Amino acid sequence: MTGTRVLVLNSGSSSVKYQLLDMETETRLAVGLVERIGEGASRLAHTPLSTGGGQRVQRTPVADHEAALKAVAEELAADGLGLDSPRLAAIGHRVVHGGLRFTEPALIDEEVIAEIERLVPVAPLHNPANLTGIRTARALRPTLPQVAVFDTAFHASMPEYAARYAIDARIADEHRIRRYGFHGTSHAYVARRAARLLDRDPAGLNLIVLHLGNGASASAVRGGRCVDTSMGLTPLEGLVMGTRSGDIDPAVVFHLGRVAGMSMDEVDTLLNRHSGLAGLCGDNDMREIRRRIDAGDAAAQLAFNVYTHRLRKYVGAYHAVLGRVDAVVFTAGVGENSPPVREAAVAGLDAFGLAVDPELNTRDSAEPRLVSPAGARVAVAVVPTDEELEIAQQTHALVAR
Ligand code: ADP
Repeated sequence: MTGTRVLVLNSGSSSVKYQLLDMETETRLAVGLVERIGEGASRLAHTPLSTGGGQRVQRTPVADHEAALKAVAEELAADGLGLDSPRLAAIGHRVVHGGLRFTEPALIDEEVIAEIERLVPVAPLHNPANLTGIRTARALRPTLPQVAVFDTAFHASMPEYAARYAIDARIADEHRIRRYGFHGTSHAYVARRAARLLDRDPAGLNLIVLHLGNGASASAVRGGRCVDTSMGLTPLEGLVMGTRSGDIDPAVVFHLGRVAGMSMDEVDTLLNRHSGLAGLCGDNDMREIRRRIDAGDAAAQLAFNVYTHRLRKYVGAYHAVLGRVDAVVFTAGVGENSPPVREAAVAGLDAFGLAVDPELNTRDSAEPRLVSPAGARVAVAVVPTDEELEIAQQTHALVAR
């Protein structure tokens, strides 16, 4: 008899986010975050939800991921939720890049670790940190099943013609250059949850899912399977994001090298960190941008217009990809919380049967809900994402088999 609890770990280069969930009740027992690992001013914030205790914050230096995970284990143990409890069934790790190999969650062993390592060249910013989390957790609990859940997996169902770039096929194959897509855990969760909201069988539904957080991506989902998505080889392609440019003429890169004298690394940093909303107006937070627009700021207005114009283009394009659309679904920080973005994303798309109801769209709620007018041909919905729950469900499903 395996336990019912799953610890979800999301290991970044200098942070570890974690949640302990009970899968029998699908409730969260504890959540927390260790930040600035390896820097002097580390911070661990732990909230034991099962005991109803308040958040506890530690500000002692945390040297590395091993120290971070040990500190997390101690916090959990203090609430009677220790990692040595037989009720802990598994640890589920978020892994960003699963390449072509991982189209499903994988039970972690040395071979799986080696394969995630082999994918580092296509995910140099993310996979090394995810691997560190995996190795550290395995060292801490060597006999506990650990599962890798990949951000790319949901998009593996894309047809070849949507996944391929139109470049020399030999070079593409040699270097594994193709469109993989990201945020897959969120797109999968939201697509399924939207079907429940619409009271429809996912198998018969065509959805456009817009995950608009700091990173942003769109996906076209037919019958529960992804048929196209906006991110590509890396999370840089597609929509305008907080700090990433999204789609851009690749010749801009040559131009910056030849004319502006920038190095590859400088261009990489420019497009990933100093572009998007931040590049256009200096702010990447939609709340601040809306505040500036209300105060008459022209740069903020232009950034908002560039952002929502790109969104509308993808909504239109994915209508063409799907042929028929049942719902457009907004999720993540911006998608869940910004009525003006939702309104602008479907503005002028009446011909597609798309509109938002002004009252429903601006109503405050944290629940999955419809924001389109009653009787609309295409539903517009807001579905809060829950990547940790999705990772925990997939992890538990794998080890409870
Ligand atoms: P991440 O991609 O980091 O997981 P989130 O999904 O949490 O991001 O989204 C973060 C973004 O959501 C913020 O940068 C901000 O732009 C936006 N956001 C959060 N709350 C609001 C709000 N109330 N109104 C508008 N935008 C919001």
